[in-house]
Amino acid sequence: MKAALMYGPGDIRVEEVDRPACPEGGFVLKVLSIGLCGSDIRNLTTDSRAGDYPHIYGHEIVGTVDEVSPSCSEYAVGERLYVYPVDHCGKCEACRTGHSEMCEDAGDYTNRQGGFADYYAVTATQVSRDSIFRVPDGISLDRASLAEPLSSVYACQDNIDVTLGDVLVVIGAGPIGCFHAKLAKLRGAKRVIMVDINDRRLEQSLRYGVDDIINSTEEDPVEAVMRLTDGVGADKVISANPSTQAQQQAIFMAKRTGIVVFFGGVAKGALTELDTNRIHYWGLWIYGHYGASSIQVQKSFELAISDEFDAESFVTHILPLSKINEGIELTRTGEAIKVVLHPNEDEDVER
Ligand SMILES: [Zn+2]
Ligand SMILES: [Zn+2]
Repeated sequence: MKAALMYGPGDIRVEEVDRPACPEGGFVLKVLSIGLCGSDIRNLTTDSRAGDYPHIYGHEIVGTVDEVSPSCSEYAVGERLYVYPVDHCGKCEACRTGHSEMCEDAGDYTNRQGGFADYYAVTATQVSRDSIFRVPDGISLDRASLAEPLSSVYACQDNIDVTLGDVLVVIGAGPIGCFHAKLAKLRGAKRVIMVDINDRRLEQSLRYGVDDIINSTEEDPVEAVMRLTDGVGADKVISANPSTQAQQQAIFMAKRTGIVVFFGGVAKGALTELDTNRIHYWGLWIYGHYGASSIQVQKSFELAISDEFDAESFVTHILPLSKINEGIELTRTGEAIKVVLHPNEDEDVER
């Protein structure tokens, strides 16, 4: 089969490799649609595996069942499935207290073969857990591939309860920032203010319900948010980018008793200096968001395939897997919002 192998930072080659064997109790998925995620790009362009290459990344996986182990009775060849990359155990303390996003025994998707390949093996453990979803008839596989990146966005807004009348600031107009804007509007937010350093991304974000855009290289984003909110600040501020400076600024954009979310991770080891007196005297809530619980993964899948979310509107580029490097570049420059890749590129199937 063909797969996109990472040989080192930025060194991605589409090559012929062995198709994975069908795991006992599991199945092999023919990957037909897979999103290129911001985290994939970070992993593919940095020494993410400390020299341990080649490796196949890719975790926004949708496809059809191609081969089933005789001991797997749940799935049949041809079924259209979305596989959430993390399977939760359901037994650990985190899972039992409703926080499976912090599962202590979750499937480690970063170390198994990913979905930037024609075929992807789904293990018996995955089959027995909570991570496999049937894509209903009439729903495109490309649409379903957005369920994974949407899951953490959905979970974040669920946890901080973005709601009717909210003023929300999103720092970072990438696909995740655009998801935040769209979802916030669906949840009733009154106003969404988008901050970024890239004009193209800012302009594109206006398609998803963003009311105001601020280029933080051209004006002080804190002053701009305060001006737009009559000196009050925003109810909620989500920093969805890898900048420590954005985190520092975020706490000055929130209103008194507002909520500030550190949604995006920063470079490993990077520290952010925060004015904790501002946090203290303004009664701010600081929340670090990561992942999605089992329930939230389910809900976000339903949202991703719904007409009201219109997932297709975020997909600006669909490319064959062999053009993965082009996809990385399109995403890095801000030309693309969401790139979806099609493995098995010669096959004439509905995606
Ligand atoms: Zn668990
Ligand atoms: Zn992702």
